[in-house]
Parts: sequence; C-alpha cells; structure tokens
Amino acid sequence: MNNEQSRRWFRVTPLEAGVDLIGEPFVHPYLSANMHFLRGRDADLLVDTGMGILPLAPILPLTQGKPLIVVATHIHLDHVGSLHEFSDRLGPQESAAAFATMPAGKTYEAAFANLDEPVTELPYEGFDVSAYAIRPAPLTRVLDEGDTVDLGGRRFTVLHLPGHSPDSIALLDEADGLFFSGDAIYDDLLIDDLPDSDRGAYRRTMRRILDLPVRRGFGGHGPAYDGARMRAIAAGYLARDG
Ligand SMILES: [Zn+2]
Repeated sequence: MNNEQSRRWFRVTPLEAGVDLIGEPFVHPYLSANMHFLRGRDADLLVDTGMGILPLAPILPLTQGKPLIVVATHIHLDHVGSLHEFSDRLGPQESAAAFATMPAGKTYEAAFANLDEPVTELPYEGFDVSAYAIRPAPLTRVLDEGDTVDLGGRRFTVLHLPGHSPDSIALLDEADGLFFSGDAIYDDLLIDDLPDSDRGAYRRTMRRILDLPVRRGFGGHGPAYDGARMRAIAAGYLARDG
C-alpha cells in the first residue's frame, strides 16, 4: 500500500472555510460515510475515520507539530476504521471500553463483506473483503455529555444523542453554530432498525435537536444541512408512527 492508493481512494471536498469533507466514493453507499477535517488555531480536528480500508492519515492536510484531535462519533464500522492510525483518539463514554478490542458485535464489521457489491473499485490489487476487520483503537480520552473539545479559539460541546446507536455523540460549537452530528442526525435515510438502535431514544434525541442553535451541520452521511433543514429532518422523524 502506498500514499498514491490512498489519494485515489479518498475524495476531499472543501465545504466552508477551514472545513473539508472526506469521503470514500468507491465504498457501497450504505457504508460510505462522511469524515470531516477542521483546521483549528492550536489543534486540528478530524471527526470520524471511515472504513479503514486504506491509510487515511497520508491524505490529511496535517501541519508538522500541530496536534490532531480525532473524535469517533460512535463505534460503527464506517466511522472508526482508521482510528488506530492516530495518537489522540476520543470517543463516547457509552462504548469506550469496546474501542480497545473493536468487537464485531459492536462495530458490525461483517456488514461490509455481506454486501452484494461492497466496493465499486478495488482499493488495491488483491483486496479481499472477507479479510476485512476493524483494528483496535483504545480511546485516549472518553467523551461524555457536556464535555468540551477545545481547538483554541473554538470550543465544541459534546452532546450524547442516542437512538441510531446507544453511543452516538455530536460536537456543537455554540458560539458559531457549527455542528458535527455523526449519525445522530444527517440528511439521508435515518437508520433506526439496527440491533442496538432505540427508537424511543431517537425520538428524544430528535426533540432535543429541534432546539439546538445550529447554523450549519455536517452529518455522518448525506450533504451538509442548515438549521432549518435540520429541524425539518427532526420533525419529519417525529411525525412518523411512534
Ligand atoms: Zn452508524
């Protein structure tokens, strides 16, 4: 494996000043999740780390000597695959212990090989989806409701927003309304029927989201959304049959 393969595999798209979207376009749409890179003053932030099929670190616009804080929004396979590549690994309290071993029952890693067409292009010659596994990535800091992630000049508050998964967290900058929401809310088909999903919890999460001061949100799947679109998505979920 080399950096050229990673550069072909990932797609980097600027979203707004200091924020890049990183995607894996050749992964099956069901597992092709969004990663977000944010340039901070004293530290940069990476939210989620994709499938871990090819090294992610080589394609990030890192600055020598500047810390990179990496946050996993939840332990599902399409969000934690490359977490092991980084030294500052932050993730949710609810699933914290599991990051040390990445048990298949928590990451659902088998879901990848079970897809009819897991990838539309091979990441490298000889790629064998049946050998796919998530590498352990013990957390170096556990995040719980109300904790803060400070980049210098910008500080995010951690919100615990269960429903899609019990451990789903999001990062909200209350000062300027920037929201990294993982799979707590995103502008695409919301998944609430996994073995560890909880529809009652998801409804409480959506009611809470209706009141959040969000200017622009970046979810784990789908396009970016503004506050009005976010409230429409949450209200749409709440309008479903209970
Ligand atoms: Zn998920």
